[in-house]
Amino acid sequence: MDLRRLGHRARLAGAVLLGVGLALGAAGLWWVVRPRPANILLITLDTTRADHVSAYGYFRPTTPRLEVLATQSQRFEHAWAPMATTLPSHASLLTGTWPLEHGALSNADEEGRRMLAQDTRSIVELFADAGYATAAFVSAEPLKQGTGIERGFQTWDEPRGHQRRAKVVTEQATGWLKKNRKSPFFLWIHYYDPHGPFDPPDNHRLFEVDPTARAWMQERGIAPLSHRTGGADLATEVAMDGYDGELHYVDDQIGRVLDLLDKWRLTDRTVVIVVGDHGEGLGQHDVGGHGLVWREQLEVPLLVRVPWRPQQGYDQPVSMVDVFPTVLSWVDVPGEAAWLASVSGHDAHDGPSGPILGLSSHRQTSLGVPEQLALTMGEVRWVRQGDAVSVFDLRADPHELDDRADLLPFHAAVMGRWAAWTEEEQRARGQALGTPGAVPLDDRERAALEALGYLAPDPEPE
Ligand SMILES: [Zn+2]
Repeated sequence: MDLRRLGHRARLAGAVLLGVGLALGAAGLWWVVRPRPANILLITLDTTRADHVSAYGYFRPTTPRLEVLATQSQRFEHAWAPMATTLPSHASLLTGTWPLEHGALSNADEEGRRMLAQDTRSIVELFADAGYATAAFVSAEPLKQGTGIERGFQTWDEPRGHQRRAKVVTEQATGWLKKNRKSPFFLWIHYYDPHGPFDPPDNHRLFEVDPTARAWMQERGIAPLSHRTGGADLATEVAMDGYDGELHYVDDQIGRVLDLLDKWRLTDRTVVIVVGDHGEGLGQHDVGGHGLVWREQLEVPLLVRVPWRPQQGYDQPVSMVDVFPTVLSWVDVPGEAAWLASVSGHDAHDGPSGPILGLSSHRQTSLGVPEQLALTMGEVRWVRQGDAVSVFDLRADPHELDDRADLLPFHAAVMGRWAAWTEEEQRARGQALGTPGAVPLDDRERAALEALGYLAPDPEPE
């Protein structure tokens, strides 16, 4: 036997084994450190106007947990809902399309529940197709399944009655998360509590009117009585104290969810999106509720915590349709290019968003309120109410009290044409997407919706 040859073979075998071992080791290491898909936690806050959120500078500490989250997040200073109504706004968020495109122009009306256009595609379907576990926990009647808002969700959880408290939703949603936290997930939690009636739990009744609150109201021209379309008036001070208590309660519930993300070591790979669906009048512009296009009804908080991105602020206005196109610049998911090409929203990094159209809810017009259309461009807002046109310069007049249409005739004319063109373009696109109209209500649904005030005039319409 040639020992030298054996030695050579042994060395060769050893080298092969070492090579295989290294390869296996590298594969093992790759398996351990491979990029894992980022999770998505979407938290939507019903009826949450940006200027009542302390994370956005409100004088009362309504949202201490969001204040901390904001220091860790991509923070959008001016995020606009396209309609101050629950289903239309959420549909725009999930499909990246405008209400005139997806076709849900109210929660429900005399014709029935509004269906989302057949050819819109929810961002949730994209994540479901990529193998994510997808789940929604919604809290109120307008978001119940049957309109298409549920598309893409494998788990759908909604209240048996008209609405449910944040605590219950948190428990249901985190129960699901505990079981599904090992797989990549897309989890949507919808909190409804800041919607009227304002009735926070006792330990969140923290705010009582004082001179600061009165000065705040005066600055905004807020009336002592809040009028609600078709409903009873409410003392604005009382409404505001209760509303702020509800915000504090929901903030506390968000804190519970964020603490569990920490406990389960999910924080580092979970993108957390917190966004309001629309605001609330609270007596401003003589409106108690919502459904119209005034700033306080359409401007909402928008925070996106991307664990691998440093905190950043964005000053340019963005719309609900821009949220997921922007999130997809930080998260990779198969098929995103086709989805992005099919939606109307833009990535906020691509510069200023185009003109932002706001519409009043069709339910408001059915109750006799003149139809409203608004166009937001930078810090100028054009508002048409019935036949009357107003122009507001938010830099000088942040609360839209001083109509400058006469002083800014060029803005009034140009923005009017632009609004008409944008509206026409969105309607045409809606037709192409195949808006199916309304799903007729059966007798039981009609009775339920009437009892809840969604069809008849009611203090809490949208
Ligand atoms: Zn809502």
